[in-house]
Amino acid sequence: MFAALYVDGDPARLPDDTPDTVSLEFDTDYTPTYRCRACGEELTETVDGYETESGDTTCVDFEPAADTDPDYGEGPHEPERIPLSWCNSAAVHTDESEDSVTVSISVGDPRGAFTFTIRRVPDDTDGDLAGHLIMHTPYVGQPLAHMDLTPLRDGTHVVGPYAPTRRLRAVPPAA
Ligand SMILES: [Zn+2]
Repeated sequence: MFAALYVDGDPARLPDDTPDTVSLEFDTDYTPTYRCRACGEELTETVDGYETESGDTTCVDFEPAADTDPDYGEGPHEPERIPLSWCNSAAVHTDESEDSVTVSISVGDPRGAFTFTIRRVPDDTDGDLAGHLIMHTPYVGQPLAHMDLTPLRDGTHVVGPYAPTRRLRAVPPAA
């Protein structure tokens, strides 16, 4: 099989004809996860609030909204999460010997990932599934799971620790 790699719609030059694995790796070392909505500086969370790399907790672009607010440029930064800062990597892996394609997305331990695989059951397999495509997806209670999953509805899960307050109230702690 021949597959061409496209990056944002343009064909990419490759050292090999057909790569088995293509991945996007995000820099996860010392990368801030917040930035300021007003001044755009990257922020780190401290006990005194959010500060820039130079330790500045005051935002030069602060604008007072209420009478009790500090003056222009004298209030705190307004933190917002940096998009995609939750992602370590995303990859596509093909395996001709398994007749499979796997997409993996890593959001927790960078050594692991959630994987989504479609493979074809060989035609010479006994049974009804011969020749059919099978899809494997992460599931709740999976052994050695990349992260915990909580189902919201069919095909949709919350990833990672999740404790909705309504459920906590409905289930009183054991005496
Ligand atoms: Zn700011």
